[in-house]
Amino acid sequence: MAEDANPFESLQSQIDEAAAYLDIGDDVIERLKYPERVLETNLTIELDDGSLERFKAFRSQFNGDRGPYKGGIRYHPQVSQDEVMALSGWMAYKTAIVDIPLGGGKGGIIVDPADYSESELERLTRAFAVELTPLIGEDKDIPAPDVNTGQREMNWIKDTYETLEGTTEPGVITGKNLASGGSEGRVEATGRSTVLAAREAFEYLDMDLEGATVAVQGYGNAGWIAARLIDEMGATVVAVSDSSGGIYNADGLDPVAAKDHKNETGSVVGYPNADEELTNEDLLTLDVDLLIPAALENAIDGELAEDVQADVISEAANGPLTPEADAVLEDKDVFVIPDILANAGGVTVSYFEWVQNSQRFYWTEEKVNAELEAVIVEAFDGLVETIEEYDLDNPRTAAYVVAVQRVADAFEEAGSFP
Ligand code: NAD
Repeated sequence: MAEDANPFESLQSQIDEAAAYLDIGDDVIERLKYPERVLETNLTIELDDGSLERFKAFRSQFNGDRGPYKGGIRYHPQVSQDEVMALSGWMAYKTAIVDIPLGGGKGGIIVDPADYSESELERLTRAFAVELTPLIGEDKDIPAPDVNTGQREMNWIKDTYETLEGTTEPGVITGKNLASGGSEGRVEATGRSTVLAAREAFEYLDMDLEGATVAVQGYGNAGWIAARLIDEMGATVVAVSDSSGGIYNADGLDPVAAKDHKNETGSVVGYPNADEELTNEDLLTLDVDLLIPAALENAIDGELAEDVQADVISEAANGPLTPEADAVLEDKDVFVIPDILANAGGVTVSYFEWVQNSQRFYWTEEKVNAELEAVIVEAFDGLVETIEEYDLDNPRTAAYVVAVQRVADAFEEAGSFP
């Protein structure tokens, strides 16, 4: 994986690309390129052996012009302030392209959770929740899961916040489990939007999804669900990978069996029905119809992009292509469904969860999935209209044209204060 691209600079260059097509003043664009504020905090917790350890953590509130800040919390050794700021910005433009009334935020702790016990992780999460409490709230800033966090961490944050505030406020966080006020369909939502967007792209490009070959990089929440759902739609998942490596079978892998193998052994590698093992680079350059990067940022840089053979890329991960890779793939006519649309299912169903929490009235899974499909199809149609209206070659630029305009409109309607 390329380490060199700074994701925050990638975000800013994506905004600049779109701004060239928009009639928005440079002073407003400048505001839309930076977070409104960033919390940097040091969390010191007691480990199981009685010693203390310090962890650095961040929360970036990028833009709240269209609604409360919204965005996940990541636990990873490579978390940095620039990464968190970039992810918070991508979130602000993601909520804008799917047109849900939320802004953009993101948080993270520099930690490899695999090195700590469950009780240590609970103390760390609750320590972060204490720091977050003055900033978050269902009408202020609403965290959610991201890499290496899930329902468990969301429940701890909700409980800490509600205890400190002496209230019940399930909408302070999304991605909770059902018993704590979560939504049906949330766990699957990111993978689901990734494949719904791919289905729409195949239709737009007049390509057949039935029998199409698919490779998926990253086999966590987003990747494995995408693999399972695209397999259910009739495509053939020929390769999947995780941080230990990849597996390949030209006749197709069984996504559920591969996931069971990962649950049992910690990795998809060694899955008995694979013909070959692959590196992540091999996987990303396979000759497939659809590539789904679902791991981390900067998976494909300009050099690797030269070797990419996929016709369509649906970005389940945030920022998997560097700007250089984007330019190379545009020249190669690869249709890239940008992250801010492809993986927007997560935040869209988080929005549904928040709506259900505020109404104390819960939807069926069928309703959640149908509403999600409607949002993604409408956003994809809007993307295509913009590609055609502005004669754009890069769908990402079209997505930012739509999203930056929406955020700028909200800002300009509200006016500046002070
Ligand atoms: P996760 O922790 O559940 O899974 C991450 C997966 O990526 C794991 O299988 C891990 O082994 C793999 N991975 C890590 N480094 C890798 C590498 N170098 N090569 C191949 N695989 C590697 O995380 P997730 O929630 O599935 O998130 C994955 C991506 O999707 C992130 O970019 C995240 O921001 C994005 N995303 C997630 C959600 C969500 O709702 N979970 C929503 C929107 C976007």
